[in-house]
Amino acid sequence: MPKMELIGLSKEELSEAIIAIGEKPFRAKQLWQWLYYFGETDFNKMSNLSKDLRAKLADNFTIFRPKIITEQLSVDKTRKWLLEMSDGQRVEMVYIPEEDRGAVCISTQVGCAVGCRFCHTGSQKLTRNLTACEIVSQFMVARDTYGEWPSPTNETRYLSNIVVMGMGEPLHNKDNTIKALNILTDGDGIAISRRRVTMSTSGIAPHIVEALDATGVRLAVSLHAPNNQLRSQIMPINNRYPLEEVLSACRAYQEKDGSRYITFEYLMLDGVNDSLACAHELIALMKKYQLRASFNLIPFNPWPGCIFKPSSNNRVNMFARELENAGFAAPVRVARGQDILAACGQLKSKKDAEDKSAK
Ligand code: SAH
Ligand code: SF4
Repeated sequence: MPKMELIGLSKEELSEAIIAIGEKPFRAKQLWQWLYYFGETDFNKMSNLSKDLRAKLADNFTIFRPKIITEQLSVDKTRKWLLEMSDGQRVEMVYIPEEDRGAVCISTQVGCAVGCRFCHTGSQKLTRNLTACEIVSQFMVARDTYGEWPSPTNETRYLSNIVVMGMGEPLHNKDNTIKALNILTDGDGIAISRRRVTMSTSGIAPHIVEALDATGVRLAVSLHAPNNQLRSQIMPINNRYPLEEVLSACRAYQEKDGSRYITFEYLMLDGVNDSLACAHELIALMKKYQLRASFNLIPFNPWPGCIFKPSSNNRVNMFARELENAGFAAPVRVARGQDILAACGQLKSKKDAEDKSAK
């Protein structure tokens, strides 16, 4: 019998696994703490368990970490890992440090089926979904790297936030993403506050409310255009779930809880969606759907072979001012880690050397 992987099991599933090997359910609590609070990967070091039990656990179970293929550090301290799963599939993860905190950007799929025209990941097609184990264990690699598992001498919390904004569309892998986010935010383990986790979606309307209700994390929606005609051109998924459906889902999400706020991501593409007329249309949309929202204006990060150009600073600032005058926060996102292709939309699965040799 192959050994069972423990990372990615829900608390209930871990209990069942422990009972199945003839142990008492409370052992599952201890094990959960070792796995997710201390980040232990060696059964032998689980010091409050008997030697016999440790041996039994090692006979039956494994504790996964993706293999680190490469690790790059940007001049601005952004870090990017290329991670390999058991079957050889690879994804990228990025850590974006701020002064006294930072966000880990995790992936949910190998590639992406949404195929947004401006996105490097989207140009790769979908290979497969990541499992809950593979989503959770990415973040665990980041904690391993920064030595941020609790210990008597360690109180730092630089890996304070999680953004589900890496490779893939989380709501195309809804169940595994929900499961993973509930493990990452569980108070007995990794315990990242739900308010510090943001899931970004390209707008898979029918799943928005369900996924956010099931996790309690924050919602970001990749809007990128203020009308269907333009949005469908740059995001073909808009033909399937047009703006009306996406924004109605956003409205339903806010109606359930008055404190819920939405961030709309808006990529600034030169001459495509960056006119003042577009800003006015956006403002009208927010009013029509009565949304409490802020915007995140994202400078376009070019990648080899893409057809778009970034908007000039001048146009971005004019666009931002227009939104701000209408009462919306509209900060311009600073592109981080560009020198190591770690910025938004630049992630992909292959090593650069392999890309070059394939040409
Ligand atoms: N699939 C999800 C989450 C991952 S993408 C989504 O699309 O929302 C995270 C953000 O990066 C999205 O807002 C996406 O539109 C944006 N993005 C994609 N390509 C980009 C690029 N080349 N430059 C800047 N941002 C990009
Ligand atoms: Fe997929 Fe998001 Fe890229 Fe679109 S922007 S192709 S949804 S990863």
